[in-house]
Amino acid sequence: MRALCFRGDGGGPEVATVPDPEPGPGQVLVKVAAAGVCHSDLAVMSVPGEALPFPLPLVLGHEGAGTVAALGAGVTRWQVGDAVAVYGAWGCGLCAACAEGRENYCPRAAGLGIFPPGLGAAGAIAEYLLVDDARHLVPLGDLDPVRAVPLTDAGLTPYHAIKRTLPKLRPGGTAVVIGVGGLGHVGVQLLRALSPATVVALDVSEDKLALAREVGAHETLLSDEHAAVAVRALTDGLGARAVFDFVGAPATVALAGAVAGLDGDIVIAGLGGGRLPVGFGALPYGTTVTTTYWGTRAELIEVLDLARTGAVEVHVETYTLDRAPDAYARLHDGKVHGRAVILP
Ligand code: NAD
Ligand code: ZN
Repeated sequence: MRALCFRGDGGGPEVATVPDPEPGPGQVLVKVAAAGVCHSDLAVMSVPGEALPFPLPLVLGHEGAGTVAALGAGVTRWQVGDAVAVYGAWGCGLCAACAEGRENYCPRAAGLGIFPPGLGAAGAIAEYLLVDDARHLVPLGDLDPVRAVPLTDAGLTPYHAIKRTLPKLRPGGTAVVIGVGGLGHVGVQLLRALSPATVVALDVSEDKLALAREVGAHETLLSDEHAAVAVRALTDGLGARAVFDFVGAPATVALAGAVAGLDGDIVIAGLGGGRLPVGFGALPYGTTVTTTYWGTRAELIEVLDLARTGAVEVHVETYTLDRAPDAYARLHDGKVHGRAVILP
C-alpha cells in the first residue's frame, strides 16, 4: 500500500510503498478515509532519527478515521464496513489507568514499547491503518470522517485540557487560548460550548485571529510583547481564570504565567519547549500549572457526541496522499487554516 513515511535521514516526509498490513489476533484493519496532520509530527521529525525511541521509517499520522476493512481472529464486536474513529493514545490495556479509559496516562506503555499510531507504530496517513486492539475503535456513526478525524486529537486534546478546568470557568471569568491552529480553533469552540467564560484568543497571525472570531472567540489579540497588558486590561486587572497554551513556546508559557489570575489554571498542551517557573512570587497564589497529553477514550466519545450536536465544527483543508508533504510544509509555515486532512 502507499503511505506517507518519515525516514529520519534529513529529508521531509515522502510517499512510499510499504508492505500491506494484515490484522493478527485481536487487531483490526481500517481502510483510512481521512487522516489529520498535527504539529506534533513536525516535533517528531525535528528529532534526529537515531534519537527516537522507535524504529524508522515511520508511517505518519495519529488522527485516523475510516471503515473496518478486516478483522483479526477473535474480534467479534465490529463488522467489516463499520465507520470508525481511532483512539490513538494506546496504553497497555491492563493497568488501572487503562481500565478507566485513561490510556493517555498509562504508566506502562512506554516501558512496554507501546507507541501510538504515527508516533512510533505505523500511522494513519496510508491506505490502511492496523489498529492494535479493537478497543481503540470508537463508532463514528454518521459523522463525516473528513471533518471528524481531527477531533481524535485536535479536538480530544483541548477537550481534555478544558474539562479539568471547568470548575474555574464561572460566569464573569475569562479563558485565554494561546495559538489558534488545529487545536486552538477547536479549543475556542469547546470553551464556548462547555463554559460561560469570556474567551480571549491570541495568535501571531491576523488570519488565525479572524478564524478565532469566526468560531466564537469574544476577543482576539496579537500574541506580542503587549499581549499580557492587553489581557489584564480586558479582565479589569484580574487576569484569566484559565489559560490554555496550544503553542508551549518559551514566549507563550511566559505569557500564560503573566495573564493567569489568582487561583487560576494554566494548562500547557503545546510542545514548544517552554518552561514556566513555579513558586512564590513567580505566579499568583493558587495558580496550578499542568501539562496535558491527549485525552481519554471516554472523552473522545464525548467530543464526537458534541460534534453531532453541531457545537463543534472543524475547519479543514484537504489534500491527496501525493500532496501530503505540501500539507506539512504549510503547517510548518503557519499557513494551515484549521486542520490539514489527508484523503489517502
Ligand atoms: P498548529 O500549527 O496548527 O497551530 C499552532 C498555532 O500557534 C498557529 O496558529 C500559530 O500561528 C500559533 N502560534 C505560533 N507561535 C505563537 C505565539 N508565539 N503566540 C501565539 N500563537 C502562536 O499546531 P497544532 O497541531 O494545533 O498543535 C499545537 C501544539 O500542540 C503543538 O506544539 C503540538 O505539538 C501540540 N500538541 C500537543 C498535544 C498534547 O497531547 N499535549 C496533542 C496535539 C498537539
Ligand atoms: Zn497530535
